[in-house]
Amino acid sequence: MTHHDVDVLVVGAGPAGLTAAGDLARAGRSVTVLERWATVNPSSRAFAVMARTLELLDARGLAEGVLAHGQRASQIRIFGDARLDLTHLDSPYRFVLITPQTNVDAALAGYAQAQSADIRRGIEVVGLMQDEAGVTVTARTHGDAGPLMRLRAKYVIGADGAHSTVRRLVGAEFPGTTLLSSVVLADVKLTDGPDDGLKLGNTREVFGFLAPYGRGDADGSWYRAMVWDRGHQVPDSEPVDDAEVIDVLNRAFNADVGVLEISWKSRFHCDERQVGQYRHGRVFLAGDAAHVHSPVGGQGMNTGIQDAANLAWKLAAVLGGADDGLLDSYQDERHPIGRRVVLQSGVMTRAVTLYPRLARAMRNLLAPRLLRVPAVRDAMAGSFAGTGLRYGRRGPVGTRATQIPLAEGRLAELQRRPWFVVIRERGADPVAVSGVLQAERTDNGPAVLVRPDGYIAWTGSSAGEGWRDVLRKWLPTLAPADAR
Ligand SMILES: Cc1cc2nc3c(=O)[nH]c(=O)nc-3n(C[C@H](O)[C@H](O)[C@H](O)COP(=O)(O)OP(=O)(O)OC[C@H]3O[C@@H](n4cnc5c(N)ncnc54)[C@H](O)[C@@H]3O)c2cc1C
Repeated sequence: MTHHDVDVLVVGAGPAGLTAAGDLARAGRSVTVLERWATVNPSSRAFAVMARTLELLDARGLAEGVLAHGQRASQIRIFGDARLDLTHLDSPYRFVLITPQTNVDAALAGYAQAQSADIRRGIEVVGLMQDEAGVTVTARTHGDAGPLMRLRAKYVIGADGAHSTVRRLVGAEFPGTTLLSSVVLADVKLTDGPDDGLKLGNTREVFGFLAPYGRGDADGSWYRAMVWDRGHQVPDSEPVDDAEVIDVLNRAFNADVGVLEISWKSRFHCDERQVGQYRHGRVFLAGDAAHVHSPVGGQGMNTGIQDAANLAWKLAAVLGGADDGLLDSYQDERHPIGRRVVLQSGVMTRAVTLYPRLARAMRNLLAPRLLRVPAVRDAMAGSFAGTGLRYGRRGPVGTRATQIPLAEGRLAELQRRPWFVVIRERGADPVAVSGVLQAERTDNGPAVLVRPDGYIAWTGSSAGEGWRDVLRKWLPTLAPADAR
């Protein structure tokens, strides 16, 4: 079957799916998103937008809007006196933005729609068959046993969350274990005034986490709370009592934290799982469909958005005639990052819930000292913020180009018109190429070719042919004169 209804079909309108849809549409590819729920998910889930995600939103003109609805926290208090200081991050955003996930989802949905992605809500994917030329997806109106519809796409992105249907339909295992059960999330109003930091309090029996939303009134301020009690382990279906949240928070912080009101609350368990393969022929898994882990560290939504940005430009390039092998680099680049995120959020969770007294004493003694060592502080902060993550192991290739100073404007502004950017050396003449953006750096660094997701693909001399060789692989449509 060679007919295709659409270039790329995205399953799931969460942050990963919407980022992929917006980027693909922005690159001129036709995209349809199928989302099970008829209305936008109103529940308050992730709350932390990391610096690298803000950079990505900036490159899509979305950062200012999201920043306007959040609270900036420049440090994360981990345990005892241990604080992760974010003020030295190598980024324009030296903080973590605390804002409900619904604000990020809304910005990304607006972006995808503005780029003309076709978002169809209330439609659930139930079947998938792929062949050499494409993928046929079967779907139906959610909650309806009514007629099935078929859509044919060249590629499918399964961004349908932790319980991914696409993952099951391609037969991918999701190996791992349950890390913590009976974790309660709640939105709480406290008498305490707004705070600049994220706070974590814990004893051997309980932990409590508070993130300031930055809104409130004369009585108090709203926070996102996460609480856990070793002595109260019940199934997710067990209703959450307000008294339980208040009791655990007070015990965790060893004080009356002054809870005035509790609105949304939910009990859940967290697993640590990752699929072995992000690519299954013409079907790709992204976001929670590919990896889940502890919410401690606030990595889930951020990692999914970065997965999507990595995959989208590669699909757009292959749809434009680039070699299919480019798509394998999605697995090569994003799987190790996913593994690292699962590992680091797991280590942090285990450190928070440590039980033996001696181990806790060692942790409380060592962690604050270690986090005051600038190299340790910067490595930890960069890893959680995503700005320290890179593709490949060595050299500038695979690092992000965001911080290169330009003669005019910033890279993120240039990349709002998508595609590759050639950044020339200071004082170098413009290169003769069309269809690629150009800029001049003002420091002494070499020329750089920047991928559409903001990472460095090549460095060298702009007068040489190196950058053209790399571009030719990814832009086979480059005018012959440009590709010479
Ligand atoms: C209770 C809870 C608390 C969380 N707290 C935090 C936190 O504090 N910090 C943090 O970083 N992360 C947290 N997360 C995780 C964070 O919300 C996710 O990492 C993030 O939403 C992942 O984005 P995604 O786009 O991959 O998937 P999702 O946001 O899950 O989106 C997937 C979408 O796919 C749709 N879908 C599913 N199946 C189908 C189908 N068959 N057909 C069509 N559509 C389908 C779903 O309806 C959903 O809208 C939490 C998650 C939950 C559930």
